[in-house]
Amino acid sequence: MQRRAALFLLACIPFFTACAIIPISKSSSPPPPFPSAGGGKVGSSVTVKRAQFLMGTLVELTAVAPGDVIAQAALTAGFQEIRRLENMLSTWIETSELSRINQAAGLEPIGVSAETFDLLRRALEVAEYTEGGFNIAIGPAVRLWNIPEAPRIPSAMELEIAAQYVDYRRIHLDQTRRTVFLEKPGMRIDIGGIGKGFAAEKAAAVMRENGAKGGLVAVAGDFRVFGRRADGTAWPLGIQHPREPGKVLAMLDVTDEAVSTSGDYERYFLKDGVRYHHILDPQTLQPARLCQSVTIIAPDATTADALATGVFVMGPARGMALVERLGLGAVIVDAQGMVIVSSRLRDRVTLSP
Ligand code: AMP
Ligand code: MG
Repeated sequence: MQRRAALFLLACIPFFTACAIIPISKSSSPPPPFPSAGGGKVGSSVTVKRAQFLMGTLVELTAVAPGDVIAQAALTAGFQEIRRLENMLSTWIETSELSRINQAAGLEPIGVSAETFDLLRRALEVAEYTEGGFNIAIGPAVRLWNIPEAPRIPSAMELEIAAQYVDYRRIHLDQTRRTVFLEKPGMRIDIGGIGKGFAAEKAAAVMRENGAKGGLVAVAGDFRVFGRRADGTAWPLGIQHPREPGKVLAMLDVTDEAVSTSGDYERYFLKDGVRYHHILDPQTLQPARLCQSVTIIAPDATTADALATGVFVMGPARGMALVERLGLGAVIVDAQGMVIVSSRLRDRVTLSP
């Protein structure tokens, strides 16, 4: 079974029934004009939205700009940017920088672009914050579970062997040479928990550079919003209920922020009534069991994405304490379905009845 996390605008719910964050129309006024192709004009700004399948998921970009030509150019540049990053970072592409790093595990350091280096540096920083809950060295275990392609429960022995290759402290970044070295053969970096947010962040910057005054970048469950909508209002987003598909759990308005959700309902299978999903606890290499979903609101999408995954593993108590310490926002649904909202978001989030 597979569903993807996302935030979506209410106006787009039919389009995004498979998603976890929901852009929403807040007032009783009609939803904003977001035609699925082409533009909607409000005042002197137009709003244009397009979707493409990239990075193994649906990527949806919305641009608000002074004219249709600028809006379309901003969208085209945004998609190009995501495609460029996919070529650099996808482990499905053998020649990508990340594939080369993984192929050279235990052999030699690999020189990488400043962007890849920055992404990995950020990932290791979040690994420290989350006390190893977020761990990009998790690759060998992710491969064993193979969710959702051909899911099966790995044996205890398989997991024991994989456990020898998932220590993120054995990922060595050399700032001076700008190289990355995986100490042990068999190690494998997996950026599934941070790459989409990184791409969303970069795409938003490129859209802005290309003239968009406002925009929404949605890469599965990772959202980056900048500026305002054409009518001057903030972007209303809804968080998907983790157990009731299509139902909004909570709503909030967003401008110039990122919102990421990690959930156990995005990619999972059920066996003997037990849910096995794609976010693994690096301590046990089993699916993390303390949350149903974690939404993080942060100034940038790379942080939001990585922290959503890491806090999911840490669980509500330790995870929320970290969010508060970092001064960020979170909405956590714990394993029993209880909703916990961080102090900074209490005035901003409206929970659905
Ligand atoms: P997300 O949907 O952002 O929470 O990312 C989940 C993806 O991150 C999984 O599909 C794996 O590719 C990868 N992943 C799984 N467990 C972890 C973990 N503990 N730390 C970092 N990445 C993980
Ligand atoms: Mg993530």
